[in-house]
Amino acid sequence: MNNFDEKKQNSFQLVIASKNVHKIREYKIILSSLLPNIDILSLIDFPNYIPPKETGKTFEENALIKAEHAAKELNKWTLGDDSGLVVPALKGEPGIFSARYAGENASDKDNRLKLLKNMEALNEKDRSAYFECCIALASPEELKKSCCAYVEGEITYKEIGGNGFGYDPIFKKHDYNKTFAQLEEALKNRVSHRRKAIDKILCAIERAIS
Ligand code: IMP
Repeated sequence: MNNFDEKKQNSFQLVIASKNVHKIREYKIILSSLLPNIDILSLIDFPNYIPPKETGKTFEENALIKAEHAAKELNKWTLGDDSGLVVPALKGEPGIFSARYAGENASDKDNRLKLLKNMEALNEKDRSAYFECCIALASPEELKKSCCAYVEGEITYKEIGGNGFGYDPIFKKHDYNKTFAQLEEALKNRVSHRRKAIDKILCAIERAIS
């Protein structure tokens, strides 16, 4: 075994309890820049694992359900993420249903178009929205910490920009005057709801590693 393989084999493993390739990519980029020596896995590495139903009423409850279940079943430290877009003028929609707003098998595009349609009649002041990201850290034995973070902005009238995923092309972040899909990936990963949530839970991960 060479030095690299040996280091890899001994490194702390953290599972991101998600199969969403876009989210996983963001976690890998952000976490590996902050904690370069950990090995980041995801549910894609465990094809036989069956995730629990997301029965929570809030993002945080769902993040807890995902983290605790995967940590126990896979016997590994796990980060559960539940996130989405909230439009107060639509009574919080799409909210915890962000991934399936336009139906169980809806694509990101379907979800965006449904939201734009539902907002057609809303003027500037009712187009405020925020992304919320809740994450929970669990060991195989117990839940360690959970936290949530937000970024505020507004919903555009049409899709703008080609980066990102999900609702990024229709979410214009305050202070930037650009949609998340117009931002360079590295910039989104410095200012996003996901990045802010990771910053809040970083100490707990560092404690787990040490
Ligand atoms: P979850 O995997 O059930 O948490 O679903 C999250 C859904 O919220 C995704 O499918 C996206 O539609 C949306 N979402 C969460 N985070 C982001 C983001 O950073 N950009 C765009 N859409 C997001």
